[in-house]
Amino acid sequence: LQRIEGIEDTCYRMGGDEFVIILSPAVYEKREQIITNIKDIFLKPWFLRDSDYYCTMSMGIVEFPGEDANVHDLIKMADIAMYEAKKGGKNRITYYEDCFAASSGKRLDMEKNMRDATANSCEEFEVYYQPVIDISGEKERCSGVEALVRWNSGKMGMVGPGEFIPLAEYLGLINPIGDFVLRKACEKCKYWNDMGHPEYHVNVNLSVVQLLQNDIVKKVAKVLEETRIIPQNLTLEVTESLAINDMVRMKKILSEIRNLGVRVALDDFGTGYSSLNHIREMPLDVIKIDRCFIEHLGEDDFSNAFVRMVSELANAINVHVCVEGVETKQQRDIVKQMGIRMIQGFFYGKPMKIEEFEKKYLI
Ligand code: C2E
Ligand code: MG
Ligand code: MG
Repeated sequence: LQRIEGIEDTCYRMGGDEFVIILSPAVYEKREQIITNIKDIFLKPWFLRDSDYYCTMSMGIVEFPGEDANVHDLIKMADIAMYEAKKGGKNRITYYEDCFAASSGKRLDMEKNMRDATANSCEEFEVYYQPVIDISGEKERCSGVEALVRWNSGKMGMVGPGEFIPLAEYLGLINPIGDFVLRKACEKCKYWNDMGHPEYHVNVNLSVVQLLQNDIVKKVAKVLEETRIIPQNLTLEVTESLAINDMVRMKKILSEIRNLGVRVALDDFGTGYSSLNHIREMPLDVIKIDRCFIEHLGEDDFSNAFVRMVSELANAINVHVCVEGVETKQQRDIVKQMGIRMIQGFFYGKPMKIEEFEKKYLI
């Protein structure tokens, strides 16, 4: 950054991977060029230790004066704009003035409410459970659940994970929220196991932010110990988009988690940064094929071939397959014909409150 003309002496690292760049009045006329030059840096890979690495960036821009603000407020505004840019996808730039009207007022509310909710021992968060059905035998049976968090906010009403998890990740609040979900889910599973369903297992989603905490393995070990769940009955779901630049570290963490006896699933397979080689390299027990491929089963040759191919590949390396998003009988029949065992989807059941799940499946 410091090689870019006009900002040589005004780039600062805020911490982590965040930087602040100040454009002084002297270079204001050249701002478009400077912004383009910054953007261009990220189009090229970096060559580190024998390989190329790509890095994306998100940029938020705020102008001063204009907004009546002090330094602290300016940085906050730049941060809000950057968050909007990040939300829009990779390698984007957002101006504060453009994002304010639309959603950032809401974002500030959500941020405050979320901080309060997590400080308040996560009481507003609730875990829903969606059954995972084993269709391999004569009789289809529930083999466990996926735990899916909901936020029942006193101020904002019911908020789905798609709406608040990106912000929670960004603010680091996904750690306390995720800890809460993990603990609750393990407690319930242990209870079901004791109540006559020793085979029921629970799947818990783990965000990349959680996975990259230094003490994540210790945390999982502690929850296992305190809830006394059978480790094999817990599956942690991770997605591929995570830290692909740092496969070595990720493989190490996942292996350590598996050494505890816990299983690892690759969630939303087929979307994001999929590489078939990851399936081979990653220490995995389950691959969950993303819902978007199930949606067009039977209509679209690509989806059919994709699901069949992943299933064969998984068989070859002894990994289980679970398909997500089965909504119709036709989809279920096709999946069954392909020899797939595990199904999750509205056809069998939506994510439900604990009471409802236990009423239906704890008999
Ligand atoms: P996911 O882990 O892939 O979870 C499956 C999502 O697909 C759930 O959405 C579920 O309700 C939905 N789904 C399941 N079957 C069907 C179906 O047949 N049709 C349709 N249309 N949808 C179906 P949900 O609960 O809104 O969760 C969205 C995502 O939020 C999850 O995707 C997961 O990535 C994330 N998430 C949820 N809970 C947590 C959590 O506790 N921690 C973290 N880190 N992420 C979570
Ligand atoms: Mg999942
Ligand atoms: Mg999924």
